[in-house]
Amino acid sequence: MVLAPDRLAHPGPPNFVRRAAGVVLDAVLPPQCLSCRAPVDTHGQVCGACWSEIDFIADPRCAACGRPFEYDLGPRALCGACIAEEPTYGRARSVMRYGDRSRGLVIGFKHGDRTERAKTFGGWMARVGEEILSGADTLVPVPLHRMRLLSRRFNQAAMLALVTGRRAGVPVQPRLLVRTRATPSQGGLNAAERRANVRGAFAVRSGQEGQVGGRRLVLVDDVMTTGATVSACARVLLKAGAAAVDVLTLVQVVVCAVIHRKWQYSRVFSGSAWCSKRAGVANGVAIRFQGCRISSDGKAAGRGFESYIRHQFHITRLWFASLVRAVLMQRP
Ligand SMILES: [Zn+2]
Ligand SMILES: [Zn+2]
Repeated sequence: MVLAPDRLAHPGPPNFVRRAAGVVLDAVLPPQCLSCRAPVDTHGQVCGACWSEIDFIADPRCAACGRPFEYDLGPRALCGACIAEEPTYGRARSVMRYGDRSRGLVIGFKHGDRTERAKTFGGWMARVGEEILSGADTLVPVPLHRMRLLSRRFNQAAMLALVTGRRAGVPVQPRLLVRTRATPSQGGLNAAERRANVRGAFAVRSGQEGQVGGRRLVLVDDVMTTGATVSACARVLLKAGAAAVDVLTLVQVVVCAVIHRKWQYSRVFSGSAWCSKRAGVANGVAIRFQGCRISSDGKAAGRGFESYIRHQFHITRLWFASLVRAVLMQRP
């Protein structure tokens, strides 16, 4: 199944109806910062204070894995980890570095049902990934196992891919890859354990093989930590005949781009606990059925019934607002 980038386009209601709906919507649900909920000018923005705390990744960076360099080492320079072991994928690019602010944004999106953030995130990804998206034939989101999909209700990578594809004018194939077995959470595992965890976990969906041969594909995911997941996907796609596989993610875990991989990741996991552990949740189910353990901005919150109801009310309001926007204002 290929989703054309303009799949959501339709004639829609006249302009004045959309403008009126926008005014009513802004009165009911004023635009708030995606991260701290401070008032902002338009929906989907991050306030100035939060923006300055987000560590956006810019050049110079490793030509392969995309980790930022302190100094410009030339356009084709590789980091120590990529020199030690060449990645399976061609190029990887990420919008921001893993940190306090980006962690809150992503956890809220992934585990807190703040799915309206996909529109903003996809816009950022389309801009950062311009170079790899310009020659791409198809975007392929990293798939979730069907049981994980059932508990989370959506695949965050597919949502990001759809918005990015629409912005960049590249078709998306959300069903090209399939996760053939459920893999335990990667949190707390080192690079070697992560590789073993996802080995053989992905396959090209049967009947879709013809969509891979000779194509330039871009894998899309929310977070890239050691690159084990995207490498496992890239290996499967290249084996099936893909001409090239690049990677585009929202967040990348970076400690230091020029040190050795082994030290790098052990430091990441001992120095700052992985997000799901810090928030005290094992998966999306814990949030929804055992009380609201994280607030919608991803920070630890009360566990009581009241905070659970408040959280549910908040996400219902957001869901309703995005529905009204999608129908009346042609804004997904
Ligand atoms: Zn803010
Ligand atoms: Zn690198």
